[in-house]
Amino acid sequence: MLTVKPIPALQDNYIWVLRQDNQDSVIVVDPGDAAPVIAWLEQENLALDTILITHHHQDHTAGLAELIERYSPKVYGPANNAIAGIDHRVGEGDECRVLGRRFEVFAVPGHTLDHIAFYAPGTPGLLFSGDTLFSGGCGRLFEGSPEQMYESLAKIQTLPEDTLVFAAHEYTLANLAFAAAAEPDNAARDAYRDECRTARDLDRPTLPTTLVRERQINPFLRIDEPGLLETLRQRGAADNGMEAFATLRAWKDHF
Ligand code: ZN
Ligand code: FE
Repeated sequence: MLTVKPIPALQDNYIWVLRQDNQDSVIVVDPGDAAPVIAWLEQENLALDTILITHHHQDHTAGLAELIERYSPKVYGPANNAIAGIDHRVGEGDECRVLGRRFEVFAVPGHTLDHIAFYAPGTPGLLFSGDTLFSGGCGRLFEGSPEQMYESLAKIQTLPEDTLVFAAHEYTLANLAFAAAAEPDNAARDAYRDECRTARDLDRPTLPTTLVRERQINPFLRIDEPGLLETLRQRGAADNGMEAFATLRAWKDHF
């Protein structure tokens, strides 16, 4: 059994730690800061076997140098970018085997051009989506086009609906506030928002989420809902999913 825990870091990042039962070394995903990872490893008396990197942004990579120096882990990251410290460069269709578990790599450009996601098949499967898919939202388009992000999210949606989604940021409540503006009439989203408010009041993460839940509450995965499509048409989108997605993403940027 693989257990996954968040180490909160920086403002609102989660560094996910994966541990296979009884093993004394772990995987961390997107260490934007070394200090909380080192503190956690020392407290739990564990070693660092592997680092997975989803994209080049500092809040996902700034801890790399110090962790490499201290633990000499294997480091998997985007093939199409030269990020210092990555010794296993992977892209669409690649697989890696870490701590006895298989991870599939998907190219998911949009937030950045180098963005990849790691998926460990299983019951349920585990998806490390970085800054591509959040609960209630998706990443801002810093480098890629709306088309790229739309296709990246479509690719993610081909995974089984019970897939657990481990996103890299605690953005859920802010995303749901926008979701409520974009699609006012969604009872499932309102109920989820209440749940997430309670979790945050107790200082608990709202993650992981699941793909089936995101399809109910995340407007970026609900572009084909008639009500949302109509709202986006009123805001100038043409009558197709891609255009509507671009309009929704641009609206969120200024929300
Ligand atoms: Zn980012
Ligand atoms: Fe980020």
